[in-house]
Amino acid sequence: MKAEQTFVPKSDLNYRAWLAANPGGFVLNRYSSENSSSYLVLHRASCDYVTKLKGTATEGGHTEHNYLKVCSPEIAPLAAYASEHSTKHGKPGQSFTKLCTRCNPAGDDQ
Ligand SMILES: [Zn+2]
Repeated sequence: MKAEQTFVPKSDLNYRAWLAANPGGFVLNRYSSENSSSYLVLHRASCDYVTKLKGTATEGGHTEHNYLKVCSPEIAPLAAYASEHSTKHGKPGQSFTKLCTRCNPAGDDQ
């Protein structure tokens, strides 16, 4: 894992600053709980699902409550992160549990 290529913002303020600086980057959405790596979803940094707070979510909802974001300008470091974390739970070789169908992060740029 190339840790220097991933960034885990500690607050929504830091997260939004990263999004603004990396509009073409990628975001891995996961639960903040250590043992919840069964949920590792990849998005583009431009995706509404990871840039807008939904429903009753309050400030901090992206990174400070139930979810964490792992950010990178490239997909590869996030795939390595996902693979490393999912392996702990008996699923060797698994990477992302899901690719967002809305922003299609693995597809061609639109
Ligand atoms: Zn998405």
